[in-house]
Amino acid sequence: MLDKHLKIIAGPCSVETPDQVRHIARELSGLDLYAFRAGIWKPRTQPGAFEGAGLEGVKWLKEACAEFGFSPITEVASSAHVEAVLKAGFSKVWIGARSTSNPFSVQELADALQGTATTVLIKNPTNPDVKLWIGGIERLYKAGIKEIIAVHRGFSTYDKQRYRNLPNWQLPIGLRQAFPKLEILCDPSHITGKAENVPMVAQMAVDLKFDGLMVEVHTHPENAWTDSLQQITPSALKNLLVGLKYRSRAELDKEELRGLRAELSVLDEQLIRILFKRMGISEAIGHYKNENHIAIFQTSQWEDSLKKFVNMAGEMDISPEFAKELFTLIHQESIETQSRILSKENDYGSDSTK
Ligand code: PEP
Ligand code: MN
Repeated sequence: MLDKHLKIIAGPCSVETPDQVRHIARELSGLDLYAFRAGIWKPRTQPGAFEGAGLEGVKWLKEACAEFGFSPITEVASSAHVEAVLKAGFSKVWIGARSTSNPFSVQELADALQGTATTVLIKNPTNPDVKLWIGGIERLYKAGIKEIIAVHRGFSTYDKQRYRNLPNWQLPIGLRQAFPKLEILCDPSHITGKAENVPMVAQMAVDLKFDGLMVEVHTHPENAWTDSLQQITPSALKNLLVGLKYRSRAELDKEELRGLRAELSVLDEQLIRILFKRMGISEAIGHYKNENHIAIFQTSQWEDSLKKFVNMAGEMDISPEFAKELFTLIHQESIETQSRILSKENDYGSDSTK
């Protein structure tokens, strides 16, 4: 069942060809979309990949939307992009995560949009800094933009096992506290990075009372020129929308707890992985110490590391007693591992006369 109030934006990650964008728009026709999305200028992490169709893409997106009755929306990252889409008659644009991370970029965009009636969507910055997001929104309000909508697309993480971008749900919830009337949409595609998990994240967003969804949709995700792993087909989008559940407050309270527990379990998984990596490094040090006849336990080294650990914990409001205890345990395990290496490599405990 689709909640009438939910704003749904759907469309491909990128405009690739006139036919591609037209086919996707045709497959979505009949859906009550708030906007049809497609990136025309693509921010790529490294050079050499497809960087978007550029100016021609503006025309292709505009024509596909006009044919199927959609309002187009695309990412703008410079005043030249703003000029191009305004000239083509677009009434909506979005500011991408990388631009929100840079106040100069947001200011340039706010200046270019000033005095227009454009609806501006602003994604969260790539780094988990809610103040940058708030600052971006303030710059837009100051430029006189009346229609502003935030989009939560998750925050960069080096560990992409579970999520491509960590949801850190407390940050968009913090944004809502700063701007109680601001609408916030969720982009489950960029949060999960995996097509099969898009419905699950979309449901979490609905449970957390987000105002809508921005979903990447492609008729042939496997052949998409960008973000092929996370795009879903038009029929998968339709299934997702009819499958969304709108829960009661009591159910939601339980769900919220479940959401928080799910976040905890992601963090627990990261903790274990970090400990595993740490033990690996500790083992390598053990081999080195053994080969070079260096004592396993070095008091000054241990005291320095402990001090650093406890200080860092203090800066994050973690109790020094807890930090000390935890670090001592980790350190003890390292020493035991290194001792095992020592006794194995030197064959202690076995009969050396054999
Ligand atoms: C996109 O929506 O395709 C995109 C590049 O998003 P983000 O800025 O969230 O990475
Ligand atoms: Mn994308």
